[in-house]
Amino acid sequence: MARTNLAGLDLDGLEAFFAEIGEKSFRARQLAQWIHQYRVVDFAEMTNLSKVLRQKLVETAEITLPEVLEEHISKDGTRKWIIRLSCGNSIETVYIPEKGRGTLCVSSQVGCTLACTFCSTGQQGFNRNLDASEIIGQLWLANEYLGKDPKGKRLVTNVVMMGMGEPLANYNNVVTAMKLMRDDLAYGISWRRVTLSTSGMVPLIDKLREDCHVSLAISLHAANDKLRSEIIPLNDKYPIAELLAACKRYVDVQQRRHITVEYVMLEGINDSVQDAKDLIRILKDLPTKINLIPFNPFPRTSYKCSSKKVIARFQQQLSDAGLVATVRKTRGDDIVAACGQLAGEVQDRTRRTQRIAQAEALQAQ
Ligand code: SAH
Ligand code: SF4
Repeated sequence: MARTNLAGLDLDGLEAFFAEIGEKSFRARQLAQWIHQYRVVDFAEMTNLSKVLRQKLVETAEITLPEVLEEHISKDGTRKWIIRLSCGNSIETVYIPEKGRGTLCVSSQVGCTLACTFCSTGQQGFNRNLDASEIIGQLWLANEYLGKDPKGKRLVTNVVMMGMGEPLANYNNVVTAMKLMRDDLAYGISWRRVTLSTSGMVPLIDKLREDCHVSLAISLHAANDKLRSEIIPLNDKYPIAELLAACKRYVDVQQRRHITVEYVMLEGINDSVQDAKDLIRILKDLPTKINLIPFNPFPRTSYKCSSKKVIARFQQQLSDAGLVATVRKTRGDDIVAACGQLAGEVQDRTRRTQRIAQAEALQAQ
């Protein structure tokens, strides 16, 4: 019988596990604390469990977390960990320290199926979903590597599901991990401080609204369907109007909350005065904060980032119309840790990279 990996179970999952092995439910709370708060992964060290129970756990369960392969520290303090998965692939996790807070950018998949044209992860193809232990394991590892703050303060105060992959495409595992982020017996980070970014999987935004009240960010990046479909193929399935309607439903339930709108600045593609006007028009009924993201280049991309002047003009136009718009500071670019640059090592099962190389070879002939 395969052993159950307890690192990937939220409190409900742990309770179900203990019920199955004939133990009381409070054991779930003890295990959550051992694994996530004290970072103890050896049953032998769990001193408040009886010897008999420890032996039972050794036979039926395990606590397996991913391993850090490399750590890179940027001159601005940003840290990137390359994390090895059991399948031989690797993913990346980034920690961004700022005044008064520390944000961890967590990956949800090895690669991504959605193939947005401006995204390094998307251009690499897809291998597999991360399981819940690999997702929460990134927070576990970050805490382990960051060590203790001298004042005893928490170092990871916020989590953004904005690393490699589309989190809603790996719904159950992501929700399980986010529940552990929230649980006071694990990490105790409030829903408001956990942000999930999606390229717009509309039915799952509605489901998330019911299951897990995290903050929501959407990758809009274009204000008309023609352009958005060109750069985000998923837009053909869930066009802008449907996406914004789902956002409206999300904030209606959440009261007081806004939606973060991400908009990557691509020179000559989506950065004109008319683009800004269109954006103002489509966002007028939604409480939003717009995050303009300078495009971060990666090998073999033909996109360029809009100039500083154009970004400033775009931002000003939005602000003049009463929208809240900020420009995202690019962090950790000296260690290739900025948005959209995370690549890891993806053995592409979709053969996308192979198809692209073939197409390029044909064109060159
Ligand atoms: N799949 C999710 C979350 C991961 S990407 C999503 O698409 O929302 C996190 C953010 O980085 C998204 O807004 C994404 O569009 C943006 N991004 C991707 N590639 C980028 C690049 N090269 N430069 C800047 N931002 C990029
Ligand atoms: Fe996937 Fe997000 Fe990259 Fe698009 S931007 S390819 S959805 S990770």
